Amino acid sequence: MRCFNHSEVRAVGFCRHCSKALCHGCASDLGFGLACRDMHEQQVTAVNAMVERATRAQTVGRSNKYLSSLFFLIFGSFFVGYDLYEGDRGTGFGVWLGGLFIAYGLYLAIVVRRVWAKA
Ligand SMILES: [Zn+2]
Ligand SMILES: [Zn+2]
Repeated sequence: MRCFNHSEVRAVGFCRHCSKALCHGCASDLGFGLACRDMHEQQVTAVNAMVERATRAQTVGRSNKYLSSLFFLIFGSFFVGYDLYEGDRGTGFGVWLGGLFIAYGLYLAIVVRRVWAKA
């Protein structure tokens, strides 16, 4: 593969905006991808910022950021409650597992809170 502008130079990658092959001299490394130097740097930066924002919104939706931790808390309580309800016939395993679930749910909630405090 050769550079789009220099047919004798080996290309190092593609511009994220126009997909042309670029050599070291033509490419501007933006950290997350290449762009045509002094041509498409702005477009590539803008697109990347957009994609990043969309990804963040998708992975941690504001409305359900505590959903996974809530899931563990509910299941944990269910296990513990079931084992206690069974009394003597209970194995104690439910309390143990439920406790683990609850601990993980709390841990998740703390992590989510910390991530959102930073954002
Ligand atoms: Zn380009
Ligand atoms: Zn070139």
